[in-house]
Amino acid sequence: MNNKKYNNFICHIINQDFHKNKNLSFHTRFPPEPNGHLHIGHAKSICLNFELAYLYKGRCNLRFDDTNPSKENIKYVNSIKNDISWLGYKWHGNVRYSSEYFSILYQYAKELIYKGLAYVDHLTKEEIREYRGTLNTPGKNSPYRNRTIEENIQLFKKMKIGKYAEGEACLRAKIDMHSSFIVMRDPVLYRIISISHHQTQKNWCIYPTYDFAHCLSDSIEKITHSLCTLEFQDNKRLYNWILKNTNVSHHPKQYEFSRLNLEFSILSKRKLKILIDNNIIQGWDDPRIPTISGLRRKGYTPSSIKEFCQKIGITKQNNLIEYSLLEHCIRKELNQTAIRTMAILEPIKIFLYNLDQNHKEIFTVPNHPNNPNMGTHEVIFTNMIYIERSDFQEKYDKEYKRLRIGEEIRLRYAYIIKAEKIEKDEYNNIISIICYCDISTLGKRPKNKKNPAVIHWISTKNTLKAEFRLYNQLFNIKNPEQQKNFLSCINPLSLVKKNGFIEKTLEQKIQKYINNDRNQLFFQFERIGYFCLDYIDSKKSFLIFNRTVNLRDVWNRK
Ligand code: ATP
Ligand code: MG
Repeated sequence: MNNKKYNNFICHIINQDFHKNKNLSFHTRFPPEPNGHLHIGHAKSICLNFELAYLYKGRCNLRFDDTNPSKENIKYVNSIKNDISWLGYKWHGNVRYSSEYFSILYQYAKELIYKGLAYVDHLTKEEIREYRGTLNTPGKNSPYRNRTIEENIQLFKKMKIGKYAEGEACLRAKIDMHSSFIVMRDPVLYRIISISHHQTQKNWCIYPTYDFAHCLSDSIEKITHSLCTLEFQDNKRLYNWILKNTNVSHHPKQYEFSRLNLEFSILSKRKLKILIDNNIIQGWDDPRIPTISGLRRKGYTPSSIKEFCQKIGITKQNNLIEYSLLEHCIRKELNQTAIRTMAILEPIKIFLYNLDQNHKEIFTVPNHPNNPNMGTHEVIFTNMIYIERSDFQEKYDKEYKRLRIGEEIRLRYAYIIKAEKIEKDEYNNIISIICYCDISTLGKRPKNKKNPAVIHWISTKNTLKAEFRLYNQLFNIKNPEQQKNFLSCINPLSLVKKNGFIEKTLEQKIQKYINNDRNQLFFQFERIGYFCLDYIDSKKSFLIFNRTVNLRDVWNRK
């Protein structure tokens, strides 16, 4: 089987497996821990697991790895389901939970005890760590390691019925305290956590560890290829040890690939939570963080995220992916799909003195320069307009190519105007720029002159107030994940708000998108950037737009 979109080392392994067994019932799973919202790193894993399932006509399960109720929350379960559906993926059958298998896992744990391969330990957490040794020094056996099977069974039952407090007892595999693989030095299989669980409520007070639950859940679900990130490479030994020593009917295989690291970003739920808890960002869907909900709110589409995941590929090399690659994917898409309109972020008024005060023209302009199917909209032209403050300069500067006193500029879709005077208030603030409008220049090149630069504008009679949220990188270093104190590298200008105007003629079109995160609405505000309506904070009476991406790559500019 060959597919241009997905052709990586894992595909080669799967192809070989199909070669050996034509009837292989290919089955993957995506196993999030419901302890936070998903981010773009998870998207890499989601795309891989679901796309492979489509490609090989197999199945992909969604399984919550919910073995630690102290960190989990039902709201994360819901947001994870929502994000995967939004990306456009459908999991096979019902949502699965490791917690569904707690009774079976308990039986497997007893099986290990009966085989003399697990024991109840009473060392404290700190002692266990100390006894475990290091990469250079072997571990030490626990004094509780050699109790009888019967004694261990009784103690494990006592753990289950709540006779011990947290930390007083745990179940450990009896493997080898001298193993060169630290994960094999009698890893903990069960610990006591006295917290109600979002799925099983108060039914259990002992919880399996990730290592114990994961391989067995994979086996129960008949997963064939269990794909995870490289840091689980050593855990594979334990994964296989548990499956080998329990009476399972199916033995899945684990394969590892490198995790996604993205420039200027943090991809760890735990660290993202620190940013939220410290009020550095507003929540999990803050557009400055690369969570799926943050990216969605910023204006990223499912297709742009999938395209990004496809471009970065699947390898075993750990590297840092350029942020501009992510931006390239959305910019390319919005260049095709975003409606072109004009918006003014920092207005300055222009008075066209040679036009009548009732002058009103309506120009019908295309929503997209190259796609007539996207339709048109109307732009109103009158004798008072706003332009961008940065498109006018009072001081003389030879290099400046936009509006200056004595110079001309073309208004997009309209006329060439010439600035003649500045009107100021008593504090020397500009009230307006008084200009001459050359009404012979509509749609025509000026005679015997060079075409002046073109700027955008909005008639004062066609304005709707709006807030524009301009996002910049949250961190001022490329690799905050490597920084011990990543909170010290926050960019103070990660969010800049501007109050300006959009064209009022768009108002009706926009209203139905408010409060609807499934329907994103995009604009290219001409000469400024691509923006998306903020469906959360926008009100019918006050619209807010988030900058999705600049018109050009700014992070790699020399
Ligand atoms: P986090 O540090 O964000 O909590 P995690 O690995 O603990 O990450 P899980 O919910 O346990 O998060 O992960 C679910 C799946 O997503 C796992 O298979 C994991 O390997 C994968 N995954 C998580 N982060 C990344 C990443 N940055 N790149 C690729 N895959 C990832
Ligand atoms: Mg985790």
